Formats: sequence, C-alpha cells, structure tokens
Amino acid sequence: MNTRDCGHIISGSSPAKGEAGKTGEWRTQRPVLNREKCLAVKANKDICYQCWAFCPECAIERKPGGPVDLTYCKGCGICAQICPADAIQMENEYDSSEQRKND
Ligand code: SF4
Ligand code: SF4
Repeated sequence: MNTRDCGHIISGSSPAKGEAGKTGEWRTQRPVLNREKCLAVKANKDICYQCWAFCPECAIERKPGGPVDLTYCKGCGICAQICPADAIQMENEYDSSEQRKND
C-alpha cells in the first residue's frame, strides 16, 4: 500500500529503476519533453507526474522536468500517451542521433 500526498491510501506498485534491465541499443524511439507544455515545469511544483507514475521502468525522475534515464528507457511511449498536457513527444532514435551530431 502506498499513500498519496493527500494521505489517501492507494494500491500501487513501486518498481525499481530499470527492472527489465538496461536497454542497450535496441530502442527505436525516445521521449523528448517540451518544457513549455509540462504542467510541473510551468508551475515549478510537485504536481501531475503522470509520466513518472506510469513509466514501467521508473526511468523518469520525479521532479519538474525530471530527466529520463535513457539507460533504462525502453521507448514504449506510455509517458507520451498519458501526459495530459501533450508535453512529451516520441522521436525516432535515428533522428535524435542525427540531431545531436548537428547540435
Ligand atoms: S505527465 Fe506531462 S505535464 Fe505531467 S509532469 Fe509529466 S511531462 Fe509534465
Ligand atoms: S518511453 Fe516508456 S520507458 Fe521511456 S520514459 Fe517513457 S514510459 Fe518510461
């Protein structure tokens, strides 16, 4: 059993970071945060965190704009699907690496 900030008891799992192991090089997409849309970043408060709560790999840090640990992120896209503010976009790994080379 876990408790939320409001004190209500909820059922919930607490997966360890990277429970399925390191991703290696097979991920085809990665999540990219648009900080201008993220509710937690905009309010600079511990709010929302749906992305953190639903990530099966616990790869997202629980803080506003919390970075994604790409060592464990599988690129499943759940965080992008669940985000109520449409603040996470999935980018192709190939595009991302090309973009990084040009940064
Ligand atoms: S679910 Fe979306 S809006 Fe909420 S904290 Fe995560 S990125 Fe920000
Ligand atoms: S793409 Fe999947 S594994 Fe990666 S941070 Fe989002 S929910 Fe977690």
